Amino acid sequence: MARYVGAVCRICRREGEKMFLKGDRCFTEKCSVERRRYAPGQHGQNMRTKLSDYGVQLRAKQKVRKTYGVLEKQFRKYYMRADRMEGETGTIILQFLERRLDNVVYRLGFAPSRNKGRQLVTHGHFTVNGRKASVPSMILRPGDTVELRENMRTNQGVLDSMESASHRGVPSWLEMDAATFKGKVQHIPSRGEIDTPAQEQLIVELYSK
Ligand code: SF4
Repeated sequence: MARYVGAVCRICRREGEKMFLKGDRCFTEKCSVERRRYAPGQHGQNMRTKLSDYGVQLRAKQKVRKTYGVLEKQFRKYYMRADRMEGETGTIILQFLERRLDNVVYRLGFAPSRNKGRQLVTHGHFTVNGRKASVPSMILRPGDTVELRENMRTNQGVLDSMESASHRGVPSWLEMDAATFKGKVQHIPSRGEIDTPAQEQLIVELYSK
């Protein structure tokens, strides 16, 4: 299970906007986008800003892919799978990404970021429908339940995250019961229920060339 292990703030600086990949730090003045509003690297401050059509599509794809912490091969698989299904291909890609177990753990508030959610999942701290689940890319379906295992229910990091998540709220396609550390997928999210600022039609254009 490969994953990106570089500096995540570089990703935001490359895209030129906050992508909230680091949890609470993103809301403080320590945010790298706030402090250095230019692309990373030696030539970051001299980067040309005019992009070709391809460049625009590529950036749109990279932004979504990196928001969810997915590598290119896996991301393309989501596109290919979505392309074979009925409906808006771009929306279906986002629905796959949202229903990944690591994202659901983040959305339910157990983790301050998707990265951290991924780590908690791979360390085996969750069950799905009562069975241990340690694969972050697992796609959940309506009716599936996600529960934090007993031994982590006093973990300060998780409790802190749940506390700050209680202010941001849980998306309407999920249900969370903080008292039992259990969440449930109510239905597949509609595009309107996914707040990720994505231009998914550009992703489809890019891959369908
Ligand atoms: Fe992005 Fe958060 Fe880092 Fe700011 S602190 S650059 S929003 S990951």
